[in-house]
Amino acid sequence: MNLIPDNFPLRPAWTEIDLGRLRRNIQLIRADLPRRVRLMAVVKDEAYGHGALDVARVAMEEGAWGLGLSTLEEAMSLRDAGITAPLLLLGERQQAELEWCVAHDLTVCVNESYNVRALARVAAQFNKRVPVHVKIHTGMSRYGVRWDEALPLIESVLAEKTLLLEGAMTHFAQSDETDKRFANLQFSRFNDVLNAMVRRNVSVPLRHACNSGGFLDLPRAHLDMVRVGILLYGVFPSTVCRRIPGIEPVMSVKARVAAIQTLKPGEVVGYGMRYTASAPRRVAVLPIGYGDGFPRVRNEGGALIRGKRAPLIGGIAMDALMVDITDIPQAQMWDEAVIMGRQGNEEISARDIAKLKNSVTYDVLTNWRLRLRRKSINAQDGAVEANETAAVK
Ligand SMILES: *Cc1c(COP(=O)(O)O)cnc(C)c1O
Repeated sequence: MNLIPDNFPLRPAWTEIDLGRLRRNIQLIRADLPRRVRLMAVVKDEAYGHGALDVARVAMEEGAWGLGLSTLEEAMSLRDAGITAPLLLLGERQQAELEWCVAHDLTVCVNESYNVRALARVAAQFNKRVPVHVKIHTGMSRYGVRWDEALPLIESVLAEKTLLLEGAMTHFAQSDETDKRFANLQFSRFNDVLNAMVRRNVSVPLRHACNSGGFLDLPRAHLDMVRVGILLYGVFPSTVCRRIPGIEPVMSVKARVAAIQTLKPGEVVGYGMRYTASAPRRVAVLPIGYGDGFPRVRNEGGALIRGKRAPLIGGIAMDALMVDITDIPQAQMWDEAVIMGRQGNEEISARDIAKLKNSVTYDVLTNWRLRLRRKSINAQDGAVEANETAAVK
């Protein structure tokens, strides 16, 4: 008997994160950017499902200025793991969060003058001068002070001795579509605010507006820094935005064949009997289901086995899906199947799965559930597996 944690048998369904590709993507992004423009790596929501700590380490090694996050918990877990880089919390903070932010040197965006005053008071209590980024909404109507009301907020920051105006930022509602009219309008509104600041002799070292779409398609809006999320992970934000050759998807989702069934004509597959064999069929059962984040489809999509496409048949269950392997006679028990990613010359992209979900690639990447263990590999170093982390805690 060898029941020690090191020997814990991991589930035959997992996400594979290729940190070598991540590194290469970041290098390509940096090489594409003018030297003076900094890169913020956006690692919110566990780095879009890729594992925030691993991604943060690679991004900082590759020269990112800092990391963009969404929640206090996300930022705290990076600090607790020893990440000392600037961490910018996007969005708005509750007042109760401010002292945690100041204590752990997390940089916040300010959208409201009452939070400026509250942050200044907390900074004074900690005897710190705290950098802030003013968030300016230029048409998206999400976070931020309206562009035509931004100056008083900026002045309220400047008036606080314990605050330092480090950044001014906005966010595009549509940067990755062919029609750039609204993005251009937003950028001109942002520029109006920046110009008004120049006229008042207010300097702000980090002006930033671009997400991945803006980085790719709006070079005149790069300013001092770009905030890149999805492109780090090798997924282009849309089908029409500019392409950078060599950028490759970082995440794959895999499972091993856990049962094989042989069907006679007229036999059915899965809940609701949504598939009936019209001829003899061979079916592989993969131990991954909607409980892992696969869309709840019926007779749509599929997996790659032995380099070939195996169509999904019947309805997907919480923990299993069935694929037709009649045309892949070599397929055997425990063969590796690719649910998302490449095998041989075939690929199932995040976009293919997004279509099944009637959603976007962002949603696909972030919605693989944590009961899929996350396995880090570094294929650049000759397919050496670097690190295996069971997501089970
Ligand atoms: C998520 C986010 C980004 C990154 O967007 P991508 O399209 O993934 O590059 C940039 N800025 C803000 C404010 C965000 O919330």
